[in-house]
Amino acid sequence: MQGWPLSIAHVVERVERLFGGKTVTTAGVERVSYREVVRNVRRLATALDALGVPVGARVGTFAANSRRHLELYLGVPSTKRVLHSINTRLSAEHLDYIVGHAADDVLFVDRALLERIWPRAAMMPSVRHWIVLPDGSDAEIPRDPRILDYDDLISGADPFPGSFEQRFSLADENRASGLCYTSGTTGPPKGVVYSHRSTVLHCLGTLAAGLIGIAEDDVVMPIVPMFHANAWGLPYGAMMAGASLVLPGSSNAPDHLLRLMQDERVTVAGAVPTVWTSLSDRLDDHDLSAVRFLLGGGSAVAPALSETYRERIGVPITHSWGMTEISPVGAIGGLRTQHRTATDAEQVAVRAAQGQPLPLVNVRITDVDTGRELPRDGRAVGELQVAGPWVAGGYYRVDAPESFTDDGWLRTGDLATIDPDGYLRLVDRIKDLIKSGGEWISSVELETALAAHPDVVEVAVVARPDPHWDERPVAHVVLREGSTTSADDLLEHLRPKVAKWWLPDEIVLRATLPKTGTGKLAKNALRVTS
Ligand code: ADP
Repeated sequence: MQGWPLSIAHVVERVERLFGGKTVTTAGVERVSYREVVRNVRRLATALDALGVPVGARVGTFAANSRRHLELYLGVPSTKRVLHSINTRLSAEHLDYIVGHAADDVLFVDRALLERIWPRAAMMPSVRHWIVLPDGSDAEIPRDPRILDYDDLISGADPFPGSFEQRFSLADENRASGLCYTSGTTGPPKGVVYSHRSTVLHCLGTLAAGLIGIAEDDVVMPIVPMFHANAWGLPYGAMMAGASLVLPGSSNAPDHLLRLMQDERVTVAGAVPTVWTSLSDRLDDHDLSAVRFLLGGGSAVAPALSETYRERIGVPITHSWGMTEISPVGAIGGLRTQHRTATDAEQVAVRAAQGQPLPLVNVRITDVDTGRELPRDGRAVGELQVAGPWVAGGYYRVDAPESFTDDGWLRTGDLATIDPDGYLRLVDRIKDLIKSGGEWISSVELETALAAHPDVVEVAVVARPDPHWDERPVAHVVLREGSTTSADDLLEHLRPKVAKWWLPDEIVLRATLPKTGTGKLAKNALRVTS
């Protein structure tokens, strides 16, 4: 067989040749065909050369999900540069660190976000050019020769006419194509470098029917930001399959997202559970009849949340489990043939699992203390380890031997069971487990049980240091507006569901819970106040 290299340039040329008439819609206000997108990508190729951006240079993006961001997703790696998508919600300290560590040569920044990052310019000496992406905002643009306008840049450049695969000789499929930093939920951000090969294989893996299975007639809406682990591969996957894309722009307002899903007849969408929670009480006001598949990942989807969607719109939220280090998708939930005749309750339990590993992804669980591999019996709980062609083998310019086993598997830091059918069930993050009197309490199980209460909107359970027991659980809960449920009522709700010693020492009712830059509950911040 031919050793033809895998490359993102193929996605560009395929979507241009086969699906040029399909569209990308941004925020419901701009609709552009893939033909036009690729024409801009061809102009971008010329423009990056004209700016003198070297081969292999990191090109940063600081942007919401938009058509212009998509052009960078395609044009940067296809011309042998490395796309570094930066989390727009990072603290100034993390921003300085990440841009400095990546040594970005150019930054493409949404106009509305310029004020967040331009004041840091002095701390980012590697950045030679700042390119403003028009996003409908009229935010002020500072006068500085380093600042250019994306549309001017593109319109002033001739489209590169030939084959990217030939011109940029992407013969080495292991060449870097992208760089993402972990969101730093549990430590300082670390960079993960993707290759053309890993990105294309991940894209094909997620396209597998029965898992996500994106097809040409799908309309795909990544609500998950394009800076959060490649928006779970949805943009490349949609283009590979020829599906239309709907990109929500900068707003995550529930009505905006629901209106887009309704008006654009979205069939597949992906978001973190906190976003799905924010939409859940307005589902009845919109026609979501086109939806066939909803993905939830980044943290556990409570069965009660998934069931709300199944009851209201006929589609549950399917688990997608992954990490920045896994490109990011490692496993997808859902039922198999054998579950079709199961009772409702059994099906809910299967859907609550993080699911089956994608093809080519290898998983195992090992004893946390001895490192011995544990049986796949659905009962043994161990550290989840992963290996495969789109799993990181190391971090960018940082040694982190503790993250890998001697035989090169990635240690996920997640605790899980694997059942005889290969389904993964996450018990907790090792760092989130609560150690009480020498025994472990799963914060996730307590959260799931509390989330099943009809008045509970959001919940996070964290450890509080305890002189006698070492640690004890404390639950932080946001209740539905107008609810008169008390902390004691919630304790009574929990009592029949969990062991007595698992009952939280305190249930704190709050108006909101702190979130990380990727929309996950920020347990670190809660631990401080517990
Ligand atoms: P960070 O580690 O900085 O939060 P990631 O987005 O890469 O950034 O997070 C990966 C972690 O998120 C996983 O190790 C796991 O703990 C959690 N996670 C991801 N998807 C799921 C899921 N479907 N269910 C439960 N936890 C999940």
